[in-house]
Order: sequence, then C-alpha cells, then structure tokens
Amino acid sequence: MKSASKFEKVAARCWNLLNEGKPFTPIFVFGTFLLFYLGDLASAENLSSLVLSLLGVIPILAIYFIFDFPLFLRNYLWIPFIVFLIVWNDVNLSLLLFATGLYFFFTVFFWGTLYYHLRIGTSWLNFTRFWKLVLKNSDSTSGNAQEQMPKFLLVLSIWDMVYQNYLSGEGTDFFPILLFYGFIFVFAWILHRYLFDWKPSMYTNFTKDSTKKPTKALSDKVIVIVIDGMRKERFYEANTPFLDTLKDNGTEYMNMETVYPARTVVCFTSMFTGTYPYEHGITSNMVWKLGIKVESIFDSLRKVGKKGRLLGIAHLVDSMGDDVETVTAVMHNDQADPNIMKRAKKIMKEQDPDLFIVQMIATDQTGHSRGVLYDEYIQKIEEADALVKDFVEWLDAEGKMENTTLCICADHGQADGIGGHGHLDEGERYVPFFMHGPHIERGKKVEQKHSLVSMAPTLAYLLGAPFPSHSRGEVLVDSIKESRDSE
Ligand SMILES: [Zn+2]
Repeated sequence: MKSASKFEKVAARCWNLLNEGKPFTPIFVFGTFLLFYLGDLASAENLSSLVLSLLGVIPILAIYFIFDFPLFLRNYLWIPFIVFLIVWNDVNLSLLLFATGLYFFFTVFFWGTLYYHLRIGTSWLNFTRFWKLVLKNSDSTSGNAQEQMPKFLLVLSIWDMVYQNYLSGEGTDFFPILLFYGFIFVFAWILHRYLFDWKPSMYTNFTKDSTKKPTKALSDKVIVIVIDGMRKERFYEANTPFLDTLKDNGTEYMNMETVYPARTVVCFTSMFTGTYPYEHGITSNMVWKLGIKVESIFDSLRKVGKKGRLLGIAHLVDSMGDDVETVTAVMHNDQADPNIMKRAKKIMKEQDPDLFIVQMIATDQTGHSRGVLYDEYIQKIEEADALVKDFVEWLDAEGKMENTTLCICADHGQADGIGGHGHLDEGERYVPFFMHGPHIERGKKVEQKHSLVSMAPTLAYLLGAPFPSHSRGEVLVDSIKESRDSE
C-alpha cells in the first residue's frame, strides 16, 4: 500500500513535459537538432550559429504552443509545411528522416514499450500494438503523430535553413520568414476561431446565486468512486452486475458531460471545485503552478467541521494538495486497483471521512497502453465492478452505509488511439454517472444534459456544506429525494 514518493511526484511532473503535446514540441525539436548536429558543437562558431538560428524559430514554436490544432484541425497543419516547401524549397531530408525516426522511437518504444513496461508491467512486445495507437491518437499528448509530425517537420526545416545560411556566411533575410509566421498565426487563429466549435457550453452563474445553501445534511457520508477513463459505451458492453444494480436502483444521468480539455487533473479539479479550468487554473495535466485558485469541496466541508479525502494518483496533489492521499502509479496494472481499494479501506477505517473520493486507475491505464477497443479494456472495467462490490460490502459490514450516498462516475471517456483524451473526440465527452443511496431516487434516468461541474455543489448539498466559492455547476436535484424533514 505504498504512497507515491516525493521522487515519484517530481518524476511524474517531469514526465508530463514529454507527455503533454505542448511542451513536447519545443523539447523534441531542440533535442533532435542538437543530436543531429552533435559533431558540429565542438566549434564555438557553429555553436553561436546554432543559438542565433534557434532565435529564428522561437515565434513558430510559440504559435504551435498556443494553438494545438485539435482533432480534425490537425490536418490543416500540413498546409504551412507545404507552403514552406513551395516557397523555400529547402529541405534537409536526412534531418527530417532522423527526426521522424526519433519521434517513433520515442513514442512507440520509449513510451509505449519501455516506460509502460517499467511502470505498469505491460509486455515487452507492446510496440506491436502501440504504433497503431500513435497513428490514430487524437488527444493533446505527444503521442499524436498527426499533430506532432507536421509541427516538428516545419520547425526543424526552418531552423536548419537559417542555421545553414549562418554557417555559409550568407545570413538570412528574416522578412519573408516573419511574414510567413504572420500568415501561420492568422491561419491558426481563423481555424481555431471558426472551426473549433465543439467545446461544451458553460454555466455562467455561481451555484450560490441560483440555489439555496443547504441548511442541514441529507447524507451522513458520500463516497465517490471515479473509474478513471471509463468510456461510456464500453461500460455498457462490459459485464458489471454490481454497478448495474447500483445504476438501476439509483439515478443515472444519461448525458453527463465532462469538461474541456478532458485531461484527468483538469476534470478532477472541475468536479471538486464546481467550476472550469479558466477559473480554477488547472488547464492540463501539466500543472505549472501548484494549487488551485478557488475553493474546493474540501474547503467547504472544513467550514462545517467535516472532512473530505481524495485517494488518487500523484498528479492530483498538484492541484488539490493536502486533501489528497496518493497511491503510487508504479505498479503492475493488474495490482493497481486492488491496491487502491485496500488503501481505501484503511483510510475509511482510520480517518472515517464524511466525503471520500477514490480514483480507480487501471481502466484508464489499460486504455492508454493497450487501446480502448480491445478486450483488455473491458476486462479492467469488469475487475473494477468486482472491486467496488467488495468495497461497498465491506463498508456495509463496518456499519458505514447506513445513510451513505454512493456516486459512481468517470472523469472523462477515452477515444481510440493511445486511449487518448483531451479534445473530446468520439467516446470522450459523455461519461457514466449514477448515484445510489437512501436519499437518491430509485430507477430514475435523467436525460437532460448535465456537466461534471455539478459534482461539487451536489456533494455540498448532500453533506450540508456551503457551495465552494466559485462553484457554477447546478445541484443534481433530479436525483435527490425530499429532505429529511419531510420524511
Ligand atoms: Zn482520467
């Protein structure tokens, strides 16, 4: 039952630099160029040409950091590269082949095989599967070949052209290059402005302005189990008798939408603050500045003398700090969820929190490492079902289910590809979400669209705590039977 070590937390943050697409592009371009010209670097003159020419590609790196060209927009990334080929007709083919080889080595072997083998025990032969996932992947990670390739091919080509010009003493006329950058910026801006239209709509009001703050708690406890990355229709396909019983005897939200970007730390932060990335400040799994900018459900509970705990992977500490108990993510994936549930029992026994949130990680990890359209993924969902059953039965035996509400959900779905998620591709947007307990309507299906930002205010409502300061989600009143007074 190991917690994540300090080393693991730091290592996880560093890994994110390579895992998230935005920091990856400049790091990869820089690393590739240096490796390719390693032999040149001994000469001071070459070194200074290299540094000077690097300045020439800073603007394009900035543009590609700002605009990630989500989903089908990535197809448009080839246009600037083609324009470059037509106008400058200057290509270092061996550099570009070297970069492409390095990219697939990094994604397919280093990440898809070595990294997953060492961290979660995936087979040494995972590259035989993983290359397909890299080619299909649509999320915002570095494993999105269709986004990363046209980006790094263009940046490397420009950098190399400028570098060669310096070396030959010709120098470069920067005016046309800057003009080209201006074109790319406007092109990118127009594409994102007019074609990127599938972001979920947001609640504009604060919860506290539209809903009366609860006067007393309905539930003594609320247990939230987040089955990370459980894609909705794959959940329906899996054989999950226990979860089905909870779902069918509780209230199920048929159109529960995640937030954008659908990355784990973003989604969790939105769920437990009740608001959106622009407000809580966590905009990707790459957390540049630790801690959220708004109150969380844990702060709300403290105000009424109650306690909430979140048991999850190390990254969640980056946003929600001391309210998080971490589990190590370095463990065979077959052991991960059983280990988490063992730890969950220990926390319930020792700390007995009023709100307890558990992140089950194995389904998500199998999706990422093996793909969501394979049987291994279904199997992990079925294992989660058995583990939740065991946990709830244990809670019951410990006398902790008397007046407890259960909430089962996913933080986001997963698209086909590296099991990627982020840009709300098919399979990511709507998540399984159902509640069960003495105060929850039985056998109800809510068709109306809702958002995961409703999690925090609903938890506050059930536990009699004020809404978190910036909570904007609507309380999920459809599922809640009248208050205790009326019974
Ligand atoms: Zn997740």
